[in-house]
Amino acid sequence: NRQILLVEKPTGKLGPEHFKLVDGAMPAPKDGEALVRTRYISLDAANRAWMHGATYRAAVEANTVMAGGSIAEVVASNSPALVPGDIVFGDTGWQDYAAVPAKHLTKMPRMEPMTHLLSIYGVAGLTAYFGLLHVGKPKEGETVVVSAAAGSVGSIVGQIAKIKGCNVIGIAGGKDKCNWLTAELGFDAAVDYKDGATFKALRAAAPNGIDVYFDNVGGDILEACLALMNNRGRIACCGAISQYDGVPSAHGPRGVPGLIVVKRLIMQGFIVMDFIDQRDAALAELQSWVTAGKLKVQEDVIDGFENTPKALIGLLAGENRGKRMVKV
Ligand code: NDP
Repeated sequence: NRQILLVEKPTGKLGPEHFKLVDGAMPAPKDGEALVRTRYISLDAANRAWMHGATYRAAVEANTVMAGGSIAEVVASNSPALVPGDIVFGDTGWQDYAAVPAKHLTKMPRMEPMTHLLSIYGVAGLTAYFGLLHVGKPKEGETVVVSAAAGSVGSIVGQIAKIKGCNVIGIAGGKDKCNWLTAELGFDAAVDYKDGATFKALRAAAPNGIDVYFDNVGGDILEACLALMNNRGRIACCGAISQYDGVPSAHGPRGVPGLIVVKRLIMQGFIVMDFIDQRDAALAELQSWVTAGKLKVQEDVIDGFENTPKALIGLLAGENRGKRMVKV
C-alpha cells in the first residue's frame, strides 16, 4: 500500500522535502468501514491550508498520511451501505488503499469520464454553483468578477455567470490563462494580476463597477475589488489562496470595514457543505448546461501516484488550468 506522508509541516513554502513515499501496511476495515482503492486524487488549494491548523476540518499533522479527497472504488465492505464495486468520494488520504467509515463516504454514480466526479460534478462544480448563485446572487446585466479564474472553481463560476447573462471579468496569472478565459470560456474580459497594475486594469475592465466579486484569493486582489464595488454589491468569500503557501503578506485589504459600511456591501463566507441538501438539484442543472454545450469542463490530470506532491506544489504556483487531479 503506497502512502505519501507529510513528514513536516512547512513554515514557508511547501516543497517536495515535506513529503515521503513509503510502503505502508494494507488497512483492515473495521465494523462499519469500507476498504477502498483510490483512483483519482483531488488536488486542492485547501490541502495546503489544512497544514496551518484546524479549519472546517482538523489540521493535517506531521508524520501522517497526507489528507485529501479522492474518487475511489470499494474493494471490501463491513457496512450494509456499500458493496464492492461501488464508486465513492471521500477523504482517503494520499494512499492506494484506505479503510474509511462508510458514513464518511459519498456514493457516486458510475460515469465516463470518471474524472468529472471531481471536477464539474464534484466539489469544484458545486462550490462554484452555490457560491455564485446562493451567496453572490448575481442578476442579469450585473458585473461579476472572479479571481483564480482559470482554476477549477473560478473557471466554472465565470461560465455560470455568463449563462446568467452577466458581464464577466476573470482575474488570473499570465497572458495565456487570460486569453484562454476570453477566447475559449466566453469571459468578457480578463485581468492578468501578475502584470502589476491590477487595480488599474480591473477599473478599465469594469467601467461600471463590480456588483458581485467571487473571492478565491483574498489579499491585494480583494483590496482592489473592494474599492471598485458598487453600492449593495456582494462578495462571496470562497477562499484565500494568496495566504495559504508561505508567509502571508504583511498588509491586508484596507477599506474594511469602511468601504463595506459606505457601500452597504454584503461579504459572506461559505463552505460548499452548507448547501448539501440542494446537491441533487444543483447537479441536474450543471449537467443540463454541460449537455447543452454552455459549460466547458476543463481538467488537468497528472499521471502517477508518486507525482502527487509535485502536483500540489504546482497547483499553488498556478501551473493548472481547471481541475487538477492525480490518476493513481
Ligand atoms: P484552483 O484550481 O483554483 O487552483 C488554484 C489557483 O490559484 C492557481 O491555479 C493559481 O492560478 C491561483 N493562485 C495561486 N496563488 C495565487 C495568489 N497568490 N494570488 C492569486 N491567485 C493565486 O484551486 P482550487 O479549486 O482548489 O481552489 C480555488 C479556491 O476555492 C481556493 O481559495 C479554495 O480554498 C476555495 N475552495 C473553497 C471551498 C469552499 O467550500 N468554500 C471548496 C473548494 C475550494 P494563477 O495562475 O491565476 O495564479
